[in-house]
Amino acid sequence: MSEAHGRAYRVLIVGAGPAGLSLAIELGHRSIPCLVIERNDRVGYAPRAKTTNVRTREHLRRWGIADKLKAASPLGTDYPSNIVFCTRLGGFPIAKFENALYCAPGRNPLYSEHAQWIPQYALEEVLRAHAVSLPGVEIRFSTEMQSFEQDEHAVTVAVRDLERGRVDRIACDYMVGADGARSRVRDGIGAKMEGRHGLSRNYNVVFRAPGLTAAHKHGPAIMYWQVNSDTPSLIGPMDKGDKWYFMPTQVPDEMKLADLAAAPDWIRRATGIDLPYEVLSSDEWTASQLLADKYRDRRVFLAGDACHLHPPFGGYGMNMGVADAVDLGWKFAAVLQGWGGEALLDSYERERRPVHRLVLDEAVLNHATLGNQLARAGMEDDSAEGARIRSEIGARVQSAKMREFYTLGVMLGYHYDDSPVIVGDGSDPVRHDFVNYVPTARPGSLAPHAWMHDGSSLYDAFGEGFTLLANDGCDQSEIDRFKAAASAAGIPLEVVRPSEPGIAELYRARYALIRPDQHVAWRGDSAGNAAATFATITGRHRVGQREAAVATSG
Ligand SMILES: Cc1cc2nc3c(=O)[nH]c(=O)nc-3n(C[C@H](O)[C@H](O)[C@H](O)COP(=O)(O)OP(=O)(O)OC[C@H]3O[C@@H](n4cnc5c(N)ncnc54)[C@H](O)[C@@H]3O)c2cc1C
Repeated sequence: MSEAHGRAYRVLIVGAGPAGLSLAIELGHRSIPCLVIERNDRVGYAPRAKTTNVRTREHLRRWGIADKLKAASPLGTDYPSNIVFCTRLGGFPIAKFENALYCAPGRNPLYSEHAQWIPQYALEEVLRAHAVSLPGVEIRFSTEMQSFEQDEHAVTVAVRDLERGRVDRIACDYMVGADGARSRVRDGIGAKMEGRHGLSRNYNVVFRAPGLTAAHKHGPAIMYWQVNSDTPSLIGPMDKGDKWYFMPTQVPDEMKLADLAAAPDWIRRATGIDLPYEVLSSDEWTASQLLADKYRDRRVFLAGDACHLHPPFGGYGMNMGVADAVDLGWKFAAVLQGWGGEALLDSYERERRPVHRLVLDEAVLNHATLGNQLARAGMEDDSAEGARIRSEIGARVQSAKMREFYTLGVMLGYHYDDSPVIVGDGSDPVRHDFVNYVPTARPGSLAPHAWMHDGSSLYDAFGEGFTLLANDGCDQSEIDRFKAAASAAGIPLEVVRPSEPGIAELYRARYALIRPDQHVAWRGDSAGNAAATFATITGRHRVGQREAAVATSG
């Protein structure tokens, strides 16, 4: 790869959505020169995602920008993250979930950062501003990827400047298609989306409605599910002013929002509240359940919606794209800096695909119970019978939707068991529970979180490279063996020796090696053959050789 050193960019990222921007940040933190190209003239056109989940916000903490996201919150992070089910905004209450999605600020032993309800456009701007502040990161807007070719040394990308009409050819070591649902990069590597397209038609309308907050009686919430027979939909505030979103779900084919002029009537009917509604934008979107049949062709990779698409219920899509970027970013850096091997890049799809499959199924399950399925005749009657029906629907909502709004098990409980760069320790897998997250330091899992007695998070002590967590009973000579093996291979290694007794209990081993993405790569009670362990977890052993490391691990 030596001929690559003269290149201006080592990685070219197509798309400045959440996945592309997060990848640029991971690379920028490691001083890997990269170019992000984006066909739009700025970030933030998509008013889609609103849930930045616990795990994504932990990444923002690691990048040092969680506070910037907090400051960018249009509602304020102390706004209650309630989810209310009602017949209409102007109608009867049905059910309520408090602290949905874990947005409430405060310390939870299980994670270092609470989630945040924030429009995708606000998150994208925070990510963009941070990305361009990092060494080697460049973003070119109004620039489109037209085509690319690759050989064993490089990818050459034809890039069109949409303002000047000029086409440049840019060479790089790796290219990533973070170019969304209609990915041209995906087509270019011959990957196909497999699964079910068109589960439902839906709309996302952003509108201004002075007085709407005061015109309903359900109290503050981030989402109001309007369960009724004519316009089942979600509605909620986008900021502390008058900006709202409206999302009619599973809209029948014959109902088309052909022009924006029709939208105010739709909102009026759905809410039962007669106000002037000024529509700002409207998107039709289709719910699908699709996974690319491959995520890579040699030097070209896919991340985010380019390789997985599913209904947004549960708020997973964007968050998974960020996690893809986190998985890929440190691996590119390791390979380009010379301490990571090819197996590290092979592991990307092996690690991420099972997570995508799990989340796809979860999102489709959530999509199966919307207001459309919950509505019943008589539910809007102002009578004892109407109240009885609403109470029955409320009970159904509580049992069906708990799993959608309290899913720490999905957000934090996934693991990379089948990865070629994880050294298993023979312990039994923890049974997956979508709701109840059970922390475990079994290799492949997210490193269990803990609060240090000085108020910091254990994660704050982890390094940009690997971290050796040395618990009670650790021995300096063993630690020195880890350090010598890492240093001989050029692997950045931080050593953390916490004195909090709870941490040894959580990790259940004297030593654990934590990856840059905070997943446990190995754990054991002695250094064993540390050189072989490091070779495996940095992808410098081929798959067949990892058994050697397993056999010698403590
Ligand atoms: C109504 C709705 C609500 C949602 N809510 C949530 C939620 O709460 N939480 C959540 O996690 N997810 C949610 N999602 C999903 C989320 O919006 C997507 O998963 C996310 O935007 C995907 O990010 P991405 O970076 O992969 O792709 P995108 O955001 O689609 O970004 C891709 C970028 O690539 C650019 N591009 C494409 N082709 C080219 C090219 N050839 N050259 C240059 N640039 C190109 C595009 O202009 C675009 O900016 C929701 C989706 C919808 C529809």
